[in-house]
Amino acid sequence: MSTNTVVVAAKLKKIREAYIKQLPAQLEGIRSSYSEFVRGEKGSAPLEELHRRIHTMKGACASFRLSKLSAAATAGEHLAKEAMQDSTATDRQWHQRMQEQLDRMEHEIANVDPAQGMELQIQELAFAAGETNERERKILYLCEDDSYQRLTLATQIGCFGFEVLSFGEPEQLVNAVQSAVPDVIVMDMIFPDRPSGGSDVMQTIQMARENPIPTVFISSQDSLASRLSAVRAGSSAYFVKPVNMTELCSTLSLLTSAVKPEPYRIMIVDDDPPLAEYHALILQEAGMITQTVSDPLDVMPHLFEFKPDLILMDMYMPGCNGMELAKVIRQIGAYISIPIVYLSSETDADKQFQAMQTGGDEFLTKPINPQRLVSSVIVRAERMKIIRSQMVRDSMTGLFNHSATKEHLDTAIAYSQRRLEEVCFAMIDVDKFKAVNDTYGHPIGDRVLIALARLIRQRVRKADIVGRFGGEEFAVILPGCGISEAVILLNEVRESFAAVRFQAKDETFSCTFSCGVAPLLLYGDAAALNAGADEALYAAKNGGRNLVVAAEGH
Ligand code: GH3
Ligand code: MG
Ligand code: MG
Repeated sequence: MSTNTVVVAAKLKKIREAYIKQLPAQLEGIRSSYSEFVRGEKGSAPLEELHRRIHTMKGACASFRLSKLSAAATAGEHLAKEAMQDSTATDRQWHQRMQEQLDRMEHEIANVDPAQGMELQIQELAFAAGETNERERKILYLCEDDSYQRLTLATQIGCFGFEVLSFGEPEQLVNAVQSAVPDVIVMDMIFPDRPSGGSDVMQTIQMARENPIPTVFISSQDSLASRLSAVRAGSSAYFVKPVNMTELCSTLSLLTSAVKPEPYRIMIVDDDPPLAEYHALILQEAGMITQTVSDPLDVMPHLFEFKPDLILMDMYMPGCNGMELAKVIRQIGAYISIPIVYLSSETDADKQFQAMQTGGDEFLTKPINPQRLVSSVIVRAERMKIIRSQMVRDSMTGLFNHSATKEHLDTAIAYSQRRLEEVCFAMIDVDKFKAVNDTYGHPIGDRVLIALARLIRQRVRKADIVGRFGGEEFAVILPGCGISEAVILLNEVRESFAAVRFQAKDETFSCTFSCGVAPLLLYGDAAALNAGADEALYAAKNGGRNLVVAAEGH
């Protein structure tokens, strides 16, 4: 076991112990609902309560892999449901069977083995967490029969920081995948004598795998039939030739996400605290931030404070059920589009359908395989994150836009002043960029800007903020960084950018940038700092370009 697995195992053990400890009280609750029902008080309410309580027990113990207890609860739930649907069903025999199931539950609870199924649970958790662990260099396999296109694509994609291995025949790709799995595949559709060779081969590759490899298809065909066979072969995107390289490369970087994105924020609403904790643990291990809420009536204040990207919602809870809660949440303007995923042990298709109609995005059933939970949550939370990021990101480069960068600068300055730390602000402007556009065309110019954006992000430190300030101008905020350190760092970025070769139709070219950088120490506030960096940039341009100049104060 790795250290992380040991830590996870310890956390899981605690959650399980807490869960097992409260089982007798849970059964007590079930028994008291049953007695109330037997006494015939409060109409049908006790029966519904009985059903809900048994249902909750069934779902949770299945999730914790307590299979025998889960089987007894399933039988009990079935009886309760029978009675709810037909009030004449509760004859003497029914009561006898119900009591038998309650006794069986009591017996199983008394004999529960805390270690049962735990190993399996840990394995599943580790597997689900491994899904999101990032490797540094992204490996891309390209399969294209036309040697000219293969070479051009490989070179261009290579400029964006991927390590490209290219193959002319699908069989070579199949062999390569068998020996080492890439981060992403770019696959041609049509091969000599095999009009759907690309999708056929990919289908075979993906079918043999538990987790599909992100795949982008490229094709000269724009027909629905061709797109459909790509989708069936598990494609993530489809590009018609001639391929728009800018779009292809931004899709590829999204699919492989070289820069660690901000973690998803997931709110878990479940009246069973240990089960909520367990689901939280699965998502945390996959790098997400979670908040658990066990009283559905507490959801509102948490919603505004925590600002989740997705809500994982239990169906049956006391006080208010998941469907009602989903309706209420959807009536709040800011949450009209928040993804809501139901996670319940409800297996009745009608009930599930009903839940989906009231604004659910997906229905997952307990017990859920951790990997399935993680991937369902990622897909849906991503949508919300995109909506949020469209407000602060520049769509072409993915960097913060002008106003978001300025906001970040204010925050960084306030933070540095509190901690008496330095912060530097740099402005970067591509040299003679107009000439690039004029000579090679605007799309090639775009490609240079996207490559520069990627390069800056890859080279600066994690805490640094990179923004697109406008056109071919970028800004970098370097918190906790002195001016001499900043100049060294920016010079490294400058040198690597100058070394990149860009491909135009049949020639290659390179670009440089000029940079001005200013320390807060000499300027005092955001506006002055910005002006200082601008002045230094101007000096760099005047000094001959391809330079980093440090500002010297007013
Ligand atoms: P200098 O070295 O003095 O900075 O020269 P320059 O040519 O880079 O400066 P100038 O400001 O004259 O030209 C910038 C050009 O950048 C003009 C504009 O068309 C181009 N540009 C701005 N935004 C984009 C963009 O998103 N894509 C492309 N391809 N070009 C852009
Ligand atoms: Mg310029
Ligand atoms: Mg300019």
